[in-house]
Amino acid sequence: MKNSLRVRLGLLATLVLPMACLGQAPMKWKIHDESRPAPPVVTPGMASTQNAAGTAPSDAIVLFDGKDLSKWEHENKSAAKWKVQNGFAEVVEKTGNIQTKQIFGDVQLHVEFAEPLPAEGESQDRGNSGVFLANVYEVQVLDSYQNKTYADGSAASLYGQYPPQVNASRPPGQWQSYDVVFHGPRFDPAGKLLRPARVTVIHNGVLVQDNVELTGPTAHGSRPPYKPGMDRGPLGLQDHGHPVRYRNIWVRELAD
Ligand code: MG
Repeated sequence: MKNSLRVRLGLLATLVLPMACLGQAPMKWKIHDESRPAPPVVTPGMASTQNAAGTAPSDAIVLFDGKDLSKWEHENKSAAKWKVQNGFAEVVEKTGNIQTKQIFGDVQLHVEFAEPLPAEGESQDRGNSGVFLANVYEVQVLDSYQNKTYADGSAASLYGQYPPQVNASRPPGQWQSYDVVFHGPRFDPAGKLLRPARVTVIHNGVLVQDNVELTGPTAHGSRPPYKPGMDRGPLGLQDHGHPVRYRNIWVRELAD
């Protein structure tokens, strides 16, 4: 084929074929529509450093600002008994998981954590905790820095379902962050699943879970199915017996 013909055919394919073959998603607004509402102004938060906790965006619900656990409670509704000091909350073994008093559905969630230093134990027995979405879906918290374990139990895994795309863990003792986007499942009035939950996780600024579809709630050693009601619930932090620290926790509720 002559070069000039090849170029012309290439152009044709580039310009014409997509328009002819591909549809266009519907959009209720006209392009550059002046009557379209402007995005609300939000004052962004400040990124944390290793030495200081950051701040939440102005439209976030602050769940823990380093001072007290007044937004949290034990699963049995008694007071949260984790230790609060120096701007962080630390898991106290056998005091139980804690969860927010407020119920949430679809959210953007920011959580910072630090793994115990020195590191002790191996595999799942090192710096294990967890962030629970809608009470039943666990984003694993683990010291995965130079610590081998099963992939779908690594730090930033959707436990038992999806390993993170990469291991972006920092060494123990350093502050780390999870930024999570959670869209809960949807059920019809009869309780039939219409759409599974979807989760995106950014670990220390690195995308590790890209809008994955959960198979159902988190369990150890099994993958149980969804049940109606699993679209909303408290946000939880797991007591797995290890003194993991948390700080600067905030959430933004998302419109459906
Ligand atoms: Mg865990």
